Amino acid sequence: MDSPAALTEPSRSTPVRGEYDVVVVGGGPAGLMAAAAAARTGHSAILLERYGFLGGAGTAGGLSTFCGLHARVHGEHQRVIHGLADELLDRLTKLDGLAAPHLTINDGILAQAFDISSYKIAADELVTGSGARLLFHALAVGVVLAAGDTIDAVLVESKSGRAAVRGRIFIDASGDADVAAWAGAPFEKSPGLDGMLYPSLMFRINGVDAAAAGDKPWRTVEQRMDAAERAGTHTFPRKKPIVRPQRNPLEWRANLTQLSNPDGSAVDGTDVDQLTHGELQGRQQALDAFTFIRDHTPGFGDSYIVDLAPQIGIRETRRIVGAYQLTEDDVLGCADFPDTIGVNGWPVESHQAGTVEFRWPRGGNPRGFCQLPLRMILPGRIANLYVIGRCASMTHDAQSAARVTGPCFAMGQAAGTAAGLALDAGVACRDVNVTDLQRRLELAGAYLGRDGGSP
Ligand SMILES: Cc1cc2nc3c(=O)[nH]c(=O)nc-3n(C[C@H](O)[C@H](O)[C@H](O)COP(=O)(O)OP(=O)(O)OC[C@H]3O[C@@H](n4cnc5c(N)ncnc54)[C@H](O)[C@@H]3O)c2cc1C
Repeated sequence: MDSPAALTEPSRSTPVRGEYDVVVVGGGPAGLMAAAAAARTGHSAILLERYGFLGGAGTAGGLSTFCGLHARVHGEHQRVIHGLADELLDRLTKLDGLAAPHLTINDGILAQAFDISSYKIAADELVTGSGARLLFHALAVGVVLAAGDTIDAVLVESKSGRAAVRGRIFIDASGDADVAAWAGAPFEKSPGLDGMLYPSLMFRINGVDAAAAGDKPWRTVEQRMDAAERAGTHTFPRKKPIVRPQRNPLEWRANLTQLSNPDGSAVDGTDVDQLTHGELQGRQQALDAFTFIRDHTPGFGDSYIVDLAPQIGIRETRRIVGAYQLTEDDVLGCADFPDTIGVNGWPVESHQAGTVEFRWPRGGNPRGFCQLPLRMILPGRIANLYVIGRCASMTHDAQSAARVTGPCFAMGQAAGTAAGLALDAGVACRDVNVTDLQRRLELAGAYLGRDGGSP
């Protein structure tokens, strides 16, 4: 007899929905680039996404800013993410959905704000225009392994029921390394208090009177929040709030909540009870912080919350332990790798209990980016899988940097291109010819940092 805490489901036959050369799970920045790149190699590709739109944390998590497209290269701000990212940004510009780059983090680096609705449309166009199939509202829930060390199919649940999607190569862009974990590839999660980076619920404020808000009003918001804490009248969940105008300064984005469990640990994005707690806590924190901003900041008196992100934004959960783990030393020391597939120029941005700490590349006038090796997207054990984006093989501290959108775009384009090469050559993902891959990526406009820093 089953224990009260578990029951045995009847076995069933699962329909096969389709067979594809490349199956990508997750349509965030990493996955959408992977699907587009894979389809462009001439192979059939499908992207499975649990929501009804692409963009990942950028849309579902309400970020509305691209970080990591730029680096500070020997003191000069330069775009270091190109290739398919150029096409996506062009589409966004045509949709009037992209702001000019702005200085952020104490004016140390550039980021670029975008309009969330335009990003959804531009991403649709890029992926379908490249020839990849999309399946929305499809939550991947498991894998079927073939003999040996390969995945045969991903299982999905949707309103149409349960189905299997077969593939020859799989790309895990779920952010949580779901596919890798189900397949038995090694992974780790930062344990304990101050283990994983803390999540945040993003929200946007509308109806701001930009003229009344004055010059650099985001500094006013931060100063007033700090002063209220020092005076003991208010307590906010974290220091260093980011409250900045969108392209039209009627609208502002707010990144200032910090979601924790009752014991103080970070809400875990792979635990549904903690996710539920985080959503409730996030909305309450957003309301409290917004009320303070509205009541204490010039220009915000008539403002209102126009959008709470569809879901809390998860920064870190599982990270695979792959053929190479990118380290903080690599990020801060601007490391080079012979198997480079792209670069990361974003500093370490560590969301710790109560605050955010930034750590920058070392030295007087550093190159400002490290290369990203192919080995960091190669999981252990499974031969027909790449794992990309924030769950790629990085230490906790390196992930605090290379998890942002720019390097995720780069990893995605590299994985999709590599999948096509592996299929052409009939080899395992790990045996793809690196020289061919790098040549293909550079021909497609990607920047691999091989010129020492003048993209
Ligand atoms: C609050 C917050 C603020 C941030 N601010 C910025 C910022 O301003 N700029 C910036 O560049 N970066 C920011 N980041 C970092 C951001 O997370 C990364 O840039 C990026 O989104 C990670 O990309 P990804 O593709 O690896 O994963 P994600 O963006 O997490 O995308 C994963 C996708 O997979 C889907 N998915 C997951 N599991 C399944 C499944 N089982 N089946 C089907 N689909 C699935 C999800 O719905 C999602 O679409 C922020 C992150 C957070 C959480």
